[in-house]
Formats: sequence, C-alpha cells, structure tokens
Amino acid sequence: MGHLVTGQGSTYDVVVVGAGIVGAACAHFLTREGLRVAVLEKGIVGGGATAAGMGHLVAMDDSPAQLALTKLSLQLWRGLLEELPASAEYRETGTLWIATDEEEMAEVRRKYGLYSSMGLACEVLDGEALAKAESELRRPLAGALRVLGDGVVYPPVVAQFLLREVAERGALFTGRSVSSIEGNVITLGDGTRISTGYVVNAAGCSAVDLTSGFVMRKRKGHLIITDRYPGFLRHQVVELGYLKSAHSVTADSVAFNLQPRATGQILIGSSRQYEDEGAAVDDDIVRKMVERACAYMPGVARLSALRIWTGFRAATPDKLPLIGPSPGNPKVLLATGHEGLGITTSMATAQLITDMLLGRSSPIAREPYLPSRMNYEAAHA
Ligand SMILES: Cc1cc2nc3c(=O)[nH]c(=O)nc-3n(C[C@H](O)[C@H](O)[C@H](O)COP(=O)(O)OP(=O)(O)OC[C@H]3O[C@@H](n4cnc5c(N)ncnc54)[C@H](O)[C@@H]3O)c2cc1C
Repeated sequence: MGHLVTGQGSTYDVVVVGAGIVGAACAHFLTREGLRVAVLEKGIVGGGATAAGMGHLVAMDDSPAQLALTKLSLQLWRGLLEELPASAEYRETGTLWIATDEEEMAEVRRKYGLYSSMGLACEVLDGEALAKAESELRRPLAGALRVLGDGVVYPPVVAQFLLREVAERGALFTGRSVSSIEGNVITLGDGTRISTGYVVNAAGCSAVDLTSGFVMRKRKGHLIITDRYPGFLRHQVVELGYLKSAHSVTADSVAFNLQPRATGQILIGSSRQYEDEGAAVDDDIVRKMVERACAYMPGVARLSALRIWTGFRAATPDKLPLIGPSPGNPKVLLATGHEGLGITTSMATAQLITDMLLGRSSPIAREPYLPSRMNYEAAHA
C-alpha cells in the first residue's frame, strides 16, 4: 500500500472524495482496518443525495447482483446497529410490498420464494392479514409480502457517525472541493495538490466530473414530510408497481412509497424523473405523488405536509453501482452509481472497496459491479 503526503506533511494510505453515506462508509471500513484515511468533501458531511434520500434499508431483487449486494449490505448494517446513536433513528420496520390484484399476488409469491431461498425472513399476507398489519390501507387489497429484516434509518447522522473515528485517526476536510484527479494526484479548487496511494471517488452524481470513461445520469426525486402522526403507519409500505417505476429508464414515474419516521412523521415518496436537473419542486409531480398515496391509503389526505424537497440519484445504464478500479486510472476506485439504493448498499460497497485495496476476497462476487463492465458494454453496443 503506497502512502500519500499532503501539503501539510501528513501521510495517508487512501483519500476518499465525498462524505456522503458511501464515502463515509468506505472511509470507516478502511480506517477500521488500520489504514490512514483522509476524506475531502466540498460541502458538509452527508449533505448530498444522502440528506435528500428516504433511508429505507431494503432487500431488492431487480437482478441477482442487486439482491446479493443488498443482502450483504443489510447484514453489515445489522453489525453496525448497536453502535449507532439514537439520533440515527434506526428501526426495523420491515417492508410491505402491496399487491392490488391476483397478478401482483403472483409476484408476491415469486418474491417470497426467492427471498426465502436466500435466507431473507419474509411472509405472505392475504388481504385480511394486510388490513390488520396496516389499518389505514384501503380495503380490499389482495395482500402483500412482508420482508421482516428491512428497516429505516436517518442517513446524514449515520454518515457523521461513520466519520467520527476517521476524523480522529485520519483526517476529515469539509469545504474542500476536488477539481481533478490525475494518476494518484488530487488537485483541489484552490490549487493545492495532494498525492496519495489510492483515491476512492465517492462523489455521488459528480463522480463523472472527476473520472472519465463511464456514463451516469441524474435521476430526480421528490419527497414530502408530514407533521407528527404517531401510530398512523408501522411498516415501510410500497406498491409492487414501484418496481415498474424504478425499472423504467425513460418515462417520469410516481409510485406509492410511505415511510414511518421515528418522530411519528410520515415520509411520502416517491418520484423518478430524468431530463430535469433543476432542484425546483415540480407541483404536478407532487400532486401525482399525493394522489397515488391517497389511492392506497385514503387517510393521507388528512395529513399536513411540513416540507417538500428534491434530490438526485446517480443512475447507471444497467442500474448497478460502479464499485472498483476505474479502467482509465487504476489508482482510482469508483464507489458511485447507486441510484435509489445507495443508503442500503453503502455498507457492502465499503466492504468490497476495502477487500480490493487489501487484496482480499469478498463475501460476494465483485464482477457485476466493476466499472470495466461499462467499457465492455460500450465496445459491444
Ligand atoms: C428522493 C430519493 C430517495 C431515496 N431513497 C433511498 C432509500 O430509501 N434507500 C436507499 O438505499 N437509497 C435511497 N436513495 C438513494 C441514496 O440517497 C443515494 O444513493 C446515496 O445517498 C448516494 O450516496 P453517495 O455518498 O454516493 O452520494 P452523496 O450523498 O451525493 O455524496 C457525495 C458527496 O460528494 C461530494 N462531492 C461531490 N463532488 C465533489 C468534489 N468535486 N470535491 C469534494 N466533494 C465532492 C458532495 O458534496 C456529496 O457530499 C434515495 C435518493 C433520492 C434522491
């Protein structure tokens, strides 16, 4: 492992660019292995997509690789939970994947078979059991899949927590913007040059500005948070149609996705839009989100909204993150492109990055997430 020397004469093994949940998790895991790590963040810790996201920790099976990554990450999250401060608001709410008709119940049963075979605790609820599990849901509904190990967390606090030890044993620089990475030399916006053994590019949607050779798009999302309504909702509830929404690579989409916060507030999601890179709230999208939520849970109409905001997901063409060496610069490891799952998959990303840097094997195959697959796809397009 090469050492880096900063302008201040400090030496670090790895410099992580970006202090969102992904950069924070990578820095935490690397520090825990005894490496000296510096983190460079242009804004504040956990202030990017990490502050904008919903914080649902969820097993997802869009592809076998996605399921493997989310499952490993949920295991790693569980290992961290006892250490997390109460302000991280972790709760094992479970997820209810709601089916409206028999066709969607067939999907519930398919998911049940797959998740069970992977050792993920879950159960099929019929319409009656679902009504008991969440009394505010409209009736009748066909049923749901309840995934018991899924949870909810407040991500910016987790990012701050993960960086505490890094700041003590390495260095955390906020308000420091990286303008370029050449080989193993980082140049900051003020002209400071830093050389290092390895760089982890965890700059979220901005990662493409610092490392060339891959394509990523910004996918805008809106969220609404309500006043406090303790007892209104117990699980994270998501329509199975959410999967169609998340899979769509072209159209704007809205899906029913509700989360109970530890404060008693309800977080109402979710929307997905390409082509709109402005942060402004789109009233038409918000109206559609509320209509969709009321269609599943009519009582949402009585809730008062306190705040509405937008954020951007970093989306790759094949909907898997980029974890590993940049094909154009082996000194840079990418840790980005997590789209709507970066809170969940931050921990597994950190595990894979740490294993790669230490020359160890990993608990899951790393190939599906390697950035080199993008070049392969481009060459064979
Ligand atoms: C509406 C919405 C809902 C979501 N819901 C969920 C959910 O329920 N569950 C889930 O798992 N995921 C969810 N996500 C996705 C999740 O929020 C992201 O995947 C995750 O936060 C990405 O983390 P990150 O660390 O890669 O990026 P970010 O949090 O964006 O962090 C990147 C950091 O890099 C810094 N940076 C950028 N450029 C530079 C530079 N040049 N120099 C220095 N620093 C730089 C930025 O300031 C930022 O702090 C959601 C996202 C959105 C938008």
